[in-house]
Amino acid sequence: MKITFTNFKHDRVTNVATRCPHCGHFGTFELVGLNDVYTLDSLNSQIINYLGVRKCPNEKCKGHLFFISDNNRNVLMTSPSETIPFDRENIPAKVLNAFEEAIKCHSNSCFIASANMIRKTLEEICIERGASGANLFNKLQDLGGKILIPQELLSGMNELRLLGNDAAHIEAQTYSEIGKEEIEVSLDFAKEILKAVYQYDNLLQRLRKLKDKTNNAT
Ligand SMILES: [Zn+2]
Repeated sequence: MKITFTNFKHDRVTNVATRCPHCGHFGTFELVGLNDVYTLDSLNSQIINYLGVRKCPNEKCKGHLFFISDNNRNVLMTSPSETIPFDRENIPAKVLNAFEEAIKCHSNSCFIASANMIRKTLEEICIERGASGANLFNKLQDLGGKILIPQELLSGMNELRLLGNDAAHIEAQTYSEIGKEEIEVSLDFAKEILKAVYQYDNLLQRLRKLKDKTNNAT
């Protein structure tokens, strides 16, 4: 993103509310004793963008953030960039590595690379669960018989497979575009799949443990 410093000042500050790329906390970021720089339209002197440095308001984090926002306090860019938060609990390393890379690609606006990594996440789930088949379509069908997962999520996995297929092959044309929105929906969906495959069972076991504790106490 290019900001042009033709006409600029630095005698005020703006509000920056965003999710911290370091700790995931959402909040209004704090000043660090510096004014923001803002650029002005040469014709009517309207503010175009603010640029500045902030500190995460979470006392345990206090992480640094550089931002660019518009005149309406919309944060257009941060560095480090925001990453979509998700629960890593109980997800096997190879599946987790693939999915984390998908999230990193998204946060850097590399959407086609993200689609590829979402597809790789599905492939890693199939390997980890011992699903076999000549291609990912067949493996996902086989996976359906090996895990307890709602039919809707299984169909969704097939959609994600097609998205990744389009990202990897020029001739595949299921999706006309792979952009920010397509990838954000896909990442949300992939998170649900990861929950269903790796986390529901864990949650149920924790709940059962609580029940045992209650029973032992009475
Ligand atoms: Zn933070």
